[in-house]
Amino acid sequence: MSAQEPPRVRVLGIAQDGGHPQAGCMEPCCAPAWLDPGRGHRVASLGLVQGTQRWLVDCTPDLPDQLRLVGGPPLDGILLTHAHMGHYTGLLHLGPEAWAPSGIAVYVMPGMRAFLEGNAPWSALISGGHVRLVDLAADRPLRLTDQLQVIPWEVPHRGPWTETVAFVIQGPSRRVLFVPDIDRWEGWPRDIADVLSEVDVAYVDGSFFDMGELPRRDRSEILHPLVRETMDRLQSETLRSRVRFLHLNHTNPMLSPGSSAWREVHDRGFRIAVEGEEVEL
Ligand SMILES: [Zn+2]
Ligand SMILES: [Zn+2]
Repeated sequence: MSAQEPPRVRVLGIAQDGGHPQAGCMEPCCAPAWLDPGRGHRVASLGLVQGTQRWLVDCTPDLPDQLRLVGGPPLDGILLTHAHMGHYTGLLHLGPEAWAPSGIAVYVMPGMRAFLEGNAPWSALISGGHVRLVDLAADRPLRLTDQLQVIPWEVPHRGPWTETVAFVIQGPSRRVLFVPDIDRWEGWPRDIADVLSEVDVAYVDGSFFDMGELPRRDRSEILHPLVRETMDRLQSETLRSRVRFLHLNHTNPMLSPGSSAWREVHDRGFRIAVEGEEVEL
């Protein structure tokens, strides 16, 4: 394993923050996954791997298992998008009750830094030396190795505590976008079609397939692009083939292979991210 082999992105989970099955849900969307854990899904996260080096993008409640999937420990760092449950609470596994590593780099935007420094138990991870915060700035590339860099892009996403970023992950020959959470495509100064024309693969917010899984909610309350809306927005076959939906809510029928929603996504030229799949950068 030489450091010269190209970096890779590995999908470590595809579910929304609460995972699948989700706590408290005994409905048909989750019941099969309670009975057969093989039908469940881990919370959305990516691993970045190059040689013996590895990083996590987001730190989910499924951290122990995802650490194994990425081939760690050790771990060279963790990049965080925002302070919603599925995206950072796995940091608790870095505390003294559990792993308690020494000085793992955690890459954060300014709001995320202030949030972690200002609130227990996160602040204890820093004062205890288990976590070392490293600053990110919007649009400024962060170089992880000679062949691997990551660029944070701010995205609109509800959240009282921190800003939210997407990441563009760039290797010597490919670029991957990770945008697991965004309120609406309309609220982003970037056009999703333009963005897709500049990347090879995009892991995109697929929280909800359509309003059918949210019978008692109004569309205006749902601060995510619906998968159907995202698909309608993208006419070019080339761009469609780059999209891989993840961050799927437990109600999302796309979690069931072969369902009509699952088939519609594939028939229209899109894909659903699969845990364990890799993209060579
Ligand atoms: Zn989320
Ligand atoms: Zn979120």
